[in-house]
Amino acid sequence: MIKNITIIGGSVAAWLAAVVFTKKKYHVNIFEGDSNSFGSQQISPNGWLALNQICNIEHVEPIFEPFNTIHIKKINSEQTLEFLTNYDLINKVSNYGSISREDIIEIFKTQALKSKRVKIYSSKIDHIVANGLNKELLDSEGRLFESDFIIGADGVNGISRKFVVGSKKNTGFKKIFRAVSLDNNPYQLTKRMLQILIHSEGYYVIYPTIIKKKKATNYIFVPNKNNTTPPKFLNSTLLYLIPNELHWISTHVQKNLKEKTSIYKQGTFLFGDAAFPTLPHLAQGGNQILEDAVFLKKFLEHSDNLDELVNSFIRARYLKRDLISKKSELIGKLLSSKNLTGHIRNFAIQSNGKDLIDNFLNPIWTS
Ligand SMILES: Cc1cc2nc3c(=O)[nH]c(=O)nc-3n(C[C@H](O)[C@H](O)[C@H](O)COP(=O)(O)OP(=O)(O)OC[C@H]3O[C@@H](n4cnc5c(N)ncnc54)[C@H](O)[C@@H]3O)c2cc1C
Repeated sequence: MIKNITIIGGSVAAWLAAVVFTKKKYHVNIFEGDSNSFGSQQISPNGWLALNQICNIEHVEPIFEPFNTIHIKKINSEQTLEFLTNYDLINKVSNYGSISREDIIEIFKTQALKSKRVKIYSSKIDHIVANGLNKELLDSEGRLFESDFIIGADGVNGISRKFVVGSKKNTGFKKIFRAVSLDNNPYQLTKRMLQILIHSEGYYVIYPTIIKKKKATNYIFVPNKNNTTPPKFLNSTLLYLIPNELHWISTHVQKNLKEKTSIYKQGTFLFGDAAFPTLPHLAQGGNQILEDAVFLKKFLEHSDNLDELVNSFIRARYLKRDLISKKSELIGKLLSSKNLTGHIRNFAIQSNGKDLIDNFLNPIWTS
């Protein structure tokens, strides 16, 4: 029976897996790699429910910034904001809000490290070599490790996905910009509200958050084209919300999701973005990893057969993950459409936005 596992990665998925496995008395070696926990992420009602099952929610509440409503607006050519629709969240089954990536990783890490069975290596894994039942890992410091069972939680560009899936063909990357402001003005304008602002060059997602115990505003700009940068504004009202001096950081997310792949090969089980690369238009990547972790936790409560765990996980989670990828892609296309399709989209949001959001998001939030 396997009781030693290796986790590759040091972000949300890796530390969530560490929480789940240490709880069942596994010995865990975790290779953290570099830290890239910038900005915040949305926790939707399904993510909040999952968080409740993974960690003590009293630790989360002080660093969680709740939203009461979603507003969808259009930035028109005169740089003024035109309201399209709003969607109230207060009566939803559970909380919706934001949390800083650094804080959420810290919560999982603290919880996992309560167990004395975790060993952290602050190096990267450069190679996974599998010869039959034996698996060897070579880290960036030239050390060789053996492992019976590997959890590849090193993201979409990690070594684990390359090992399990092989090199990818026809893959494109979508550029996305992120920024954080600690100014009070934008925070006051977006307090309790998630705003989606549609612009001719792309769309913004803006919401309040808490970064290093300070009230902050989190920004995402998704350009329609990879070579577009976040627009600069002249309109003073708009500048309160989106100051020109924001320090934008760009990131690339995988675009081609059509490929059918496996998430397991020779004792290496992909988890998180490494398993299911998801475009971020629905803000579900991290929320789904939380749901995945709840699945693992529940399975391990009645069995320690890791082969069966992998099979059950694929049966239980693959279809939902696939559906969310497709929905996310569709939302991305809709939000970036221009001209006639853009006008139809705006008209549909203005006339029927609440029902559209309800029909689209509720099945995801109430899983
Ligand atoms: C712009 C944007 C906005 C988003 N907004 C949301 C949101 O609001 N809500 C939400 O739920 N999700 C959101 N997501 C998705 C969410 O961020 C991801 O799903 C989540 O971060 C994936 O976590 P992960 O741990 O699987 O991978 P990653 O966060 O990519 O972490 C992988 C880790 O592995 C480490 N690593 C890489 N290679 C190695 C190696 N060889 N050895 C050791 N370690 C290695 C890296 O340093 C990194 O720490 C968003 C994504 C983007 C891009």
